[in-house]
Amino acid sequence: MTIRKIKSIKNAIYNIPLAEVLSDAKHGDHTHFEVIVSTIFTDDGFEGTGYTYTGGKGGRAIFSLLEDEIKPSLIGKDANQIQDIWNSMYWNLHYVGRGGLLSFAMSAVDIALWDIKCKVLDKPLWQVAGGADNKTDCYAGGIDLNFTQEKLLNNIQGYLDRGFHAVKIKVGKEDYLEDVARAEAVRKLIGSDIKFMVDANYSMSEEKAVKFAKAIEHLDITWFEEPTLPDEYKMYGRIADATSIPIAMGENLHTYHEFTYAFEQSKLGFVQPDASNIGGITGWLEISELAKHNNIPVCSHGMHELHVSLLSSQPHAGYLEVHSFPIDEYTTCPLELDNGKAIAPNISGTGVEFDPQLVNPHLLKSS
Ligand SMILES: [Mg+2]
Repeated sequence: MTIRKIKSIKNAIYNIPLAEVLSDAKHGDHTHFEVIVSTIFTDDGFEGTGYTYTGGKGGRAIFSLLEDEIKPSLIGKDANQIQDIWNSMYWNLHYVGRGGLLSFAMSAVDIALWDIKCKVLDKPLWQVAGGADNKTDCYAGGIDLNFTQEKLLNNIQGYLDRGFHAVKIKVGKEDYLEDVARAEAVRKLIGSDIKFMVDANYSMSEEKAVKFAKAIEHLDITWFEEPTLPDEYKMYGRIADATSIPIAMGENLHTYHEFTYAFEQSKLGFVQPDASNIGGITGWLEISELAKHNNIPVCSHGMHELHVSLLSSQPHAGYLEVHSFPIDEYTTCPLELDNGKAIAPNISGTGVEFDPQLVNPHLLKSS
């Protein structure tokens, strides 16, 4: 293969306001989300866009990792050697970064390199990553714990009107019976054909999680996401044993090893790696392989404009989360739905390119 040297890298961070304040049980109010973009240029004229995102905090530290620590070590490297570059980033900063901000920074670089890889092959990501299909099941992932029940139902109705066949709400109220009442109201609104998930953002104790799960078993819940602390792998397993509802997690597991513990101990029904924090597409596909090996459907968290291609590409795909941070609305190719499925972009590359007119007003800093 021709050597394709990395000539330059441009990093940028954007702080993008949400249309309204969104809350979950653990992270409080979200007013903004951050998108940190790494654009890689090669000496033979290719350009790859990679990115990661946050819930509004920590982005500047990720920008610094990319700009001050990672960029100098990448100039002159062969952009084709994605795994070598991945390994070098991981081990160079392992001591201070393992599983933390480093996983986010590496993801931006890795996604940019995959964008270049797809462009060199002149193929869309869904084909290069596996090619099982060009569309995937998906659900609307609400961040709605602060909504009154009336507003919650209006929001869910909005998802149904947009064509979603599956919806998720946040849970984790002080009194879990309030969560039960909200879930019952949602099930009544959506009827029996729409899939329905709940997400506690690891806010519950084991005891509360089990009580809550048992109280909503009659509502045909597809999964109960992050009932409790993501590090408590065995606790997840006990909660799974105590309820008929499948348990899901993954957005807070940021290394391959953490996922192996979850597969061994947590008795998961679904797994939700996020390419923005598990080391990009390389990392996400590794977890997808692990999931296949364990007979568990692979799902996603966040950045649906990218994950739509990854989920579509996998034969054991579960559901794409269409997240409440609308990153896709700032790209040239917003997410497309067709009969309840999300459609992967059929263009060369990852299909994610930021529209400068839309993101530039929110630029915090760039190199
Ligand atoms: Mg979640």
